[in-house]
Amino acid sequence: MPCKTNEELAELVEEAKKVTSEGKVADYIPELGKAEADDLSVAIYHVENSCMSAGDIEKTFTLQSISKVLTLALVLMDHGEPFVFSKVGMEPTGDPFNSIVKLETHEKQRPLNPMINAGALAVTNMIKGSTKEEKLLRYIDFIRKLTFNKKINICKNVAASEFETAWLNRSLCYFMKKDGIIEGDVEDLIDLYSNQCAIEMHSLDLAKIGAVFALDGKHPETEQQLIPKDIARICKTFMVTCGMYNASGEFAIKVGIPAKSGVSGGIMGIVPYQFGIGIFGPSLDEKGNSIAGIKLLHLLSEKYELSIF
Ligand code: GLU
Repeated sequence: MPCKTNEELAELVEEAKKVTSEGKVADYIPELGKAEADDLSVAIYHVENSCMSAGDIEKTFTLQSISKVLTLALVLMDHGEPFVFSKVGMEPTGDPFNSIVKLETHEKQRPLNPMINAGALAVTNMIKGSTKEEKLLRYIDFIRKLTFNKKINICKNVAASEFETAWLNRSLCYFMKKDGIIEGDVEDLIDLYSNQCAIEMHSLDLAKIGAVFALDGKHPETEQQLIPKDIARICKTFMVTCGMYNASGEFAIKVGIPAKSGVSGGIMGIVPYQFGIGIFGPSLDEKGNSIAGIKLLHLLSEKYELSIF
């Protein structure tokens, strides 16, 4: 464990909290706007099955963009690399996560990568299943396995709120449908994607998923290989190059661990072969990352030399 005690971790949380007021809770999905800006929680799950936590750990949050990494893992298991990467690229972008501009100019009109909305929608479109309900069930089942928590479910209010307001995501889908990147009914896809983003959990659940990635896809307790090693490696690489929106380069320099954030204020961090980190702090910086969460990861990385580089 990086910290010796929960108190040591709590001190870092208090320090990080000081920047909360410099950010703002996301409200473009109206339900997300109801979060309490100064909440901050962190859980660290060690691959040897010990854990520590601090802050408002009883609070739950939705995965939002963090779900994109997990969907990618699932569809790579469903279809293999050649098919998935025929529909979505591997390159980072300096554009915002929901940008539409590059779709027109990128080679074969493929979205640049699976961590921006266009790419993530194309990836969600590849989840196997004969109905959207079956696809969603498979996805939730996968998340329950990764978190070792059968109670994981969807926050229906957040899912409905996103579905009702996802105009830009609909536009991205129709654009990609024109080029054959996306197939099938767009409303069904937006519904599935809104539900995927609305999967709700605690920081500890997220830290446990991080621990699975830290062990190259292996469940720390049962040692079952939940994600093949090469797929876990691809996911972690995307987290480094594109996981923190268009602040991924700076984050790699200043913190230096694979991480993925979401507009709910969640961040999943991975310290390979050591631990997974789950953070929730809904006040966001201008790029859409949890402002106190990033500060906390800075403090942890500096103090305990966590950078992988
Ligand atoms: N559900 C969100 C959207 O597509 C996810 C965005 C995010 O967390 O970056 O707008």
